[in-house]
Amino acid sequence: MENQIELFCPSCKSVVKADANFCPVCGKQLKDEPIGAPFTKQAIVYFVSFFLPPFGLIYAVKYLKQGDYESRKIGFISIILTAISILAAIWMTLGIVNSITQSFNEINSLGI
Ligand SMILES: [Zn+2]
Repeated sequence: MENQIELFCPSCKSVVKADANFCPVCGKQLKDEPIGAPFTKQAIVYFVSFFLPPFGLIYAVKYLKQGDYESRKIGFISIILTAISILAAIWMTLGIVNSITQSFNEINSLGI
């Protein structure tokens, strides 16, 4: 059995199919405009981009390949977050290496 629930048009009270975007009788719009990607999905993409950079690039490419403006925007933001995350990781690594080098220099200068 197909999942074809029938509803009533709020404007003219005709019976319309649940998946219909417009009332076939009076033409009233029954559904909101489709949105590019739900907010939660975007949040996941951005989260992965920032905390798991290599996987974020997979999302970025996937979204950039899609034609619409909204998807490409998500892909672009995803790439920026990935870049920031990688730069932060490099910067932190350099900081750690610097402090280790400094410790070694101090130990050396003590002549131990
Ligand atoms: Zn109607």
